[in-house]
Amino acid sequence: MTLRVLSVASEAVPLVKTGGLADVVGALPGAVAPHGVEMTTLLPGYPAVMQAIGKGRSVHSYPSLLGEPARLIATKLGGHPLIVLDAPAYFARGGGPYGDAGGRDWGDNWRRFAALARVAADLAGGAIKGKRFDLLHAHDWQAAMAPAYLRFAPAEAGRIVPSVMTIHNMAFQGWHGAEIFAGLGLPREAWSMHGVEYHGGVGFLKAGMEAASAITTVSPSYAAEIAAPEFGMGLEGLVLSRGDRVRGILNGIDTTEWNPETDLQLPARYGARKLDRRIPNKRALEAEFGLESGDDPLFVVISRLTWQKGMDVLLETLDHLVGIGGRLALLGSGDAATEAGFHAAAARHPGRIAVRTGYDEALAHRMQGGGDAILIPSRFEPCGLTQLYGLAYGCVPVVCRTGGLADTVIDANVAAMQAGVATGIQFGRVDLPSLSTAISRATALYRQPEQWRAIQRNGMKSDFSWARSGKAYADLYTQLVMETR
Ligand code: ADP
Repeated sequence: MTLRVLSVASEAVPLVKTGGLADVVGALPGAVAPHGVEMTTLLPGYPAVMQAIGKGRSVHSYPSLLGEPARLIATKLGGHPLIVLDAPAYFARGGGPYGDAGGRDWGDNWRRFAALARVAADLAGGAIKGKRFDLLHAHDWQAAMAPAYLRFAPAEAGRIVPSVMTIHNMAFQGWHGAEIFAGLGLPREAWSMHGVEYHGGVGFLKAGMEAASAITTVSPSYAAEIAAPEFGMGLEGLVLSRGDRVRGILNGIDTTEWNPETDLQLPARYGARKLDRRIPNKRALEAEFGLESGDDPLFVVISRLTWQKGMDVLLETLDHLVGIGGRLALLGSGDAATEAGFHAAAARHPGRIAVRTGYDEALAHRMQGGGDAILIPSRFEPCGLTQLYGLAYGCVPVVCRTGGLADTVIDANVAAMQAGVATGIQFGRVDLPSLSTAISRATALYRQPEQWRAIQRNGMKSDFSWARSGKAYADLYTQLVMETR
């Protein structure tokens, strides 16, 4: 029997991406397909999405979707069904998915994403002719009102279907003032502690976590961490109260996109047994960044430049990194002051530190294929994808021991080296001494080529493809659908 699942999110590769969420939502339909799940993805019709899908087939019209006209367009993406919410008043704007070109969030984000969630609940509840689903899967706060609509305001003649709420990052909760409640089209009883109310306003993620049949997050460690205040960010009590309805399912990586043996973005392709073939990639990367060429370790960073990612502490360690002979190529965007800090460090250390700001997918591939080690000093990390790409590419991850980073990288301590299982370097805290020590350890290991190659090979042999996690999601869907029947 095929299970029909509607997955709703605010971004998905290859159409729109600001972070790991898009990678996961884009890969999920293919990951669950071998396990008897047909997944349809619902996305907002941002300009880039509308342009990419062309005309499509209009399958439903809303004269007023929370106040604005909208229609649904059905098409396919990578062989899987896609439904796009074409609502120009909400989504036909310049800038990014969540804000203007200057990075300021749109003031009506609550209405834009409530509209998306309303549509998801209508579709999942079977209220739209010709569409039938067994389960709704909502990702992050932008989609989180969907389970709440299903519970408190199901479409007329709609069915009750189970739902899964996946938290890709607890730091983004979608809290809005109480005044928006009237615009959501929810009945009064939804305004309660077990509904959408949160600290006197409307908590989108909180509402989804309350209403969903099950909650998942993207690594087992993060699932445990969000039950405590430091990582739960106010929602730890709710996490605890949902008990065994909370699970961690590790993200996979799309190995057709991220495979050094076939990656056309790389000057030279290579496998675990041909590590020398990485050298031309390293030379090309040095040249591209204007770094001195040579044998010294080349660290790379591909990251949002934010507090979460520990970029402030990385900035403090750069003199040490250069002092022990390292070089750094950084690609990132985010906080303006942090960007300025990295540019200043590059000016202080010409030829040793170089920075590219902005978003560049192809360059991210070349950095994984040419860098020696990738630095990921995250203060918290629900799963993290850049360390998984690093493992696959022999770009050794140097990570803080938290969340998905703890679950996926095996520290090169003496025991792990002897057992032949080490894949990277872990450190315990995001502070200057710990990160500096980790960079020193990486540099020392790099200077012992036999050991370094063993670490690279172990990482390249580890399997973080979607095979296992695709099955875990399919099993969860099946369990929830069985329970409801
Ligand atoms: P998060 O989703 O918290 O930003 P992840 O590690 O889960 O972190 O995913 C980040 C994704 O975004 C990876 O695919 C990474 O390669 C990509 N990425 C981050 N910053 C950039 C950038 N400036 N240019 C290109 N890709 C980037």
